[in-house]
Amino acid sequence: MEQKNIILTGDRPTGRLHLGHYVGSLKRRVELQNSGKYDEINILIADDQALTDNADNPGKIRENIINVVLDYLSVGIDPEKSTICVQSALPALHALTFYYMNLVTTARLARNPTVKTEMQMRGFADEGLPVGFFSYPISQAADITAFDANVVPVGEDQLPMLEQAREIVEKFNRIYGETLVMPKAMIPENETQRRLPGVDGKAKMSKSLGNCIYLSDPSSVLKKQINGKMYTDPLHLQISDPGHTEGNVVFTYLDALCTDAHFAEYLPEYANLEEMKAHYRRGGLGDGTCKKFLFNVLEETLSPIRAERARWEKDIGSVYDILSAGTARAVERTNETLARVRCAMKIDYFANRSIIGEWEELLKKARQ
Ligand code: ATP
Ligand code: MG
Repeated sequence: MEQKNIILTGDRPTGRLHLGHYVGSLKRRVELQNSGKYDEINILIADDQALTDNADNPGKIRENIINVVLDYLSVGIDPEKSTICVQSALPALHALTFYYMNLVTTARLARNPTVKTEMQMRGFADEGLPVGFFSYPISQAADITAFDANVVPVGEDQLPMLEQAREIVEKFNRIYGETLVMPKAMIPENETQRRLPGVDGKAKMSKSLGNCIYLSDPSSVLKKQINGKMYTDPLHLQISDPGHTEGNVVFTYLDALCTDAHFAEYLPEYANLEEMKAHYRRGGLGDGTCKKFLFNVLEETLSPIRAERARWEKDIGSVYDILSAGTARAVERTNETLARVRCAMKIDYFANRSIIGEWEELLKKARQ
């Protein structure tokens, strides 16, 4: 099988997409899409995965599918170049998950550090752990392999999922013969972009933690999030006090997003972030100035995204058609992989009638 360059990424439709998604994955996806270097780009709205911890609230998932597609289109995902599809409508993914479950032990699943953290966040340790949630890394391996993806652009929290997927591929190919493509994670080079913290300084900006700057937030909300909620340095009480830039969310966001051009445009006193940080550390630079600069940087990033969203929001019929066409393409694509998998596993009884000959031969031998 000739290896093509194929991307698979996705998001859970549990809310609108936020700045963490943007720096961790979306921005990269658009660059890769426009690089012309990839044969296929597939973007999966993982509604089945979202149900694993929202089974009692399917309305939330249904609502957020449109939010996620709108966010994709507004950051520059181009449906002519990328296939956007909905997970629950792809039956091959369910079948693959079922087969891969036989290749993974419960002990292995229990070791997944991201799942461990997420279990804690969701209170599953006390309430009891849904089997679906516990095993979602297996279904994620099905998503990736169903598209024969070799490249998976994700944030750092997804590295354990990729590791699990790679183990499944290795084991499957060892038992059933070379069938599945080995995937590789692609994480941002900029360290801060790999896991953007929340505005409250918590380890990860996450829909489930309510500490997000959403791509679709209007300027007024953005301003409130920055001025009201954003965690800086609690020891920096007076402007003249020396300040800490480490663990200071304003500087973390600047690390992830600002360029020297932003300084030339909005804060020409400094040539770059290093100079600004040095001043903050020495003392004499107030949080107000830093926050105002961050606001300008974010406005520059987010205002074109908002404008695109407003345009698409007026044309939901077209958005539906894009999603429906992408999903139809993905059904075909993933069914091909499932057929290949079933053939490798020798359970493709009804692919053609060749098994009749095999069975007849077997019975003939038994009679001899
Ligand atoms: P949920 O709380 O429902 O899990 P989430 O905010 O973690 O939502 P996901 O849909 O799980 O978002 O993640 C989608 C993609 O975005 C993944 O590739 C993930 O690594 C990346 N991502 C999510 N949050 C961040 C973040 N704070 N920094 C960098 N990347 C992120
Ligand atoms: Mg997540």
